[in-house]
Amino acid sequence: MTIGILALQGDVREHALAFAELEVATTPVRRPADLEGLAGIVLPGGESTTLSMLLESSQLFEPLGAVIAGGLPVFGTCAGLVLLAADVLDGRPDQRTFGALDCVVRRNGYGRQRDSFESELSAPTLAAELEMPDSALPAVFIRAPVVVTAGPGVEVLASLSSQGGGRDPVAVRQGSVLATAFHPELTGDRRLHRVFARMVAR
Ligand code: GLN
Repeated sequence: MTIGILALQGDVREHALAFAELEVATTPVRRPADLEGLAGIVLPGGESTTLSMLLESSQLFEPLGAVIAGGLPVFGTCAGLVLLAADVLDGRPDQRTFGALDCVVRRNGYGRQRDSFESELSAPTLAAELEMPDSALPAVFIRAPVVVTAGPGVEVLASLSSQGGGRDPVAVRQGSVLATAFHPELTGDRRLHRVFARMVAR
């Protein structure tokens, strides 16, 4: 079982190291031919507008969109979440997404004063699935998107209290799509990578 990591831009290496810790093989994806034989794919953090452009220039956008629509498990983090969303607010007009996740996201939605911050989350569903305790899940947010709306088919795995007083979903899953607004690859906590590896193995 090999998981592809979209390697056009962003924190590719950190995801590869995270899966290596779990003894899960990964391979970089740069060209359409690299999609062959993958059991799952990661869309890393980076810059969603740049990733959108590079996906087009590398001619990966259509074939990658097709395998995701076909049910290949996909894990998007931060910019990767933006790429998966149904709709993007405050995006660039020419920015494209795969629309695989029934969520509307606001790019850089946590605003200037909180461009980057760390938090600790609770993720009881993940803990139960992994048969691990629901200890605090460290989460690093870097110019992160806010999930503004999540459709009824979207499972919220973790949320964060929002400035408006409600709660923002920050880890979500819909069928074969897993996505986080934060960067689990930048901490030592492997619970999200473990859950994705399980989705892939299934
Ligand atoms: N703000 C970036 C975007 O819109 C995401 C930042 C990140 O991935 N750390 O794509």
